Amino acid sequence: MAIAPLPRVVVDRIAAGEVIDSLAAAVRELAENAIDAQATRIVITLDPDTLSLEVSDNGVGIAANDLPAIAQFHSTSKIGSLEDLCHVQTLGFRGEALHGLACLSRLRVASRTAGSDCGWEVSLPTGSPPRPRAMAVGTTITVGELFANLPARRDGLPSVPQQLRHVQRTLHLLAIAHPTLSWQATVHRHPWLTLAPSQNLRELLPQVLPRLDPQGLRHSQTPQIEVLLGVPSVVSRPRPDWIQVVLNGRAIAHPDLEQTILDCFRRTLPRHRFPLCVVRLNVPAHEIDWNRHPAKHEVYLHRLTHWQEQIQSQLQQMLHPEPQPSGRSHHLLRLAEQSQNYQASSSPPPVRVRSQLLNTYILVEHSGGIWLVEQHVAHERVLFEELERHWQLLPCDPPIAVTLTPAAADNLLALGLDLESFGVQTWLVRSLPQPWLDPLLQEHLPEFLTELSTLTDLSLAQAQIACRSAIKNGTPLDGEVMHRLIHQWQQTRNPHTCPHGRPICLPLETNDLARYFRRPWLAG
Ligand code: ADP
Ligand code: MG
Repeated sequence: MAIAPLPRVVVDRIAAGEVIDSLAAAVRELAENAIDAQATRIVITLDPDTLSLEVSDNGVGIAANDLPAIAQFHSTSKIGSLEDLCHVQTLGFRGEALHGLACLSRLRVASRTAGSDCGWEVSLPTGSPPRPRAMAVGTTITVGELFANLPARRDGLPSVPQQLRHVQRTLHLLAIAHPTLSWQATVHRHPWLTLAPSQNLRELLPQVLPRLDPQGLRHSQTPQIEVLLGVPSVVSRPRPDWIQVVLNGRAIAHPDLEQTILDCFRRTLPRHRFPLCVVRLNVPAHEIDWNRHPAKHEVYLHRLTHWQEQIQSQLQQMLHPEPQPSGRSHHLLRLAEQSQNYQASSSPPPVRVRSQLLNTYILVEHSGGIWLVEQHVAHERVLFEELERHWQLLPCDPPIAVTLTPAAADNLLALGLDLESFGVQTWLVRSLPQPWLDPLLQEHLPEFLTELSTLTDLSLAQAQIACRSAIKNGTPLDGEVMHRLIHQWQQTRNPHTCPHGRPICLPLETNDLARYFRRPWLAG
């Protein structure tokens, strides 16, 4: 076939199919338009069987004389010049969505502005002049039989339940990006999803994930960055579905920033579990290039390292337990100071190491309540982070003989251990990770090394070494040792869980204790 330009109708359909690739994309584009129009309430009705939907908002509306041109290709009220493209402040700016929907469905747009006595309605793509319609200020956009004229797309769509899950996810992401809005969606006229307006992520997320334990959430907010995370000892996910970055009001996929988040939670969760962490960033508009993907969920971000550092420092602060001195318990603590107990010396929150219980738990008192710390996992966490910071192999004399397959020996060599072949499948190990030079561990080393030789990942190996070297539960500890351990544990990056994901500390807050013992009854 000779080369020739494509007919307009084909070009339109190609472009439309790119932006509106699913029912969820239609919902996203219409809801984003409502948000750009400053709506506070968005109502969505869905008929997934016929791929029809309607989105109504209470935003500023569209002037009647703008309606006929509303679905022209690349027509927008949001930017006007090349310069504007560098300062995009709105969710939309490409003027593609309504044009795409008009190409792929029967589209009806009804809208009323504050200055108008009634609303006006147009049907597209026919483009007859606007007809008056009784309605409140705002906009209602109706999409009938999406993809009816694009059978290749329509017939390839996933099942209805899958499409609805996709729509639900889309709405959840829009809501976390705009927590103050009210959302209501019905499917076949039955209530399906409702989200009440919230001040911030902390209020919103329990609506999205109702089974989440709100006690396990931590929240922080500054003008630049808002973070909501699940404390790893309490909250984790079976999939990486809630490691989410929101940039200037849009949930985006940003592998580098997601990796930064994951790194902060490294070795804090059990195998095959993932953290819950939503980070909302407010970045100056000129530092973002949204024009990377038609759906704009991928972006180019200037000063990426700066934002990675911001996220990292915020998360690290939040992952530390920091008891706040409260009036009454502060007083208790001062009283306690007069007795001769051990007191932590420097920067982390002041605590008192009280005693050891059952030769396993260390009882710690702080200004907000008490902690029961399991000695083995706390020590494991301390040793693990030391190994991460300072991976050191030291000569051991005499060497240790172990029986290993060649593959197992290769694993030890890859970790940097010094090995020498000594007969059939027997090896002499001549260097050891630093914590294993402890003479008390001597007799277990062949067993530990055999175990270590099954691991191919340095981080897992370090977790294993820490676990095997840490103080065992059941070991009596003196005050000095407990004090040092608690102090070191408080300084760790991730004090909540051991590197295998077990919780380290059971916190009992003064308020919870008072509630349990019904103390408010007396006060009342
Ligand atoms: P874009 O959002 O990129 O500007 P769209 O095709 O989504 O392009 O919308 C075209 C224009 O229609 C918008 O620029 C806006 O002016 C107007 N519009 C669409 N939906 C709404 C709405 N819900 N409320 C007010 N105006 C709207
Ligand atoms: Mg738009």
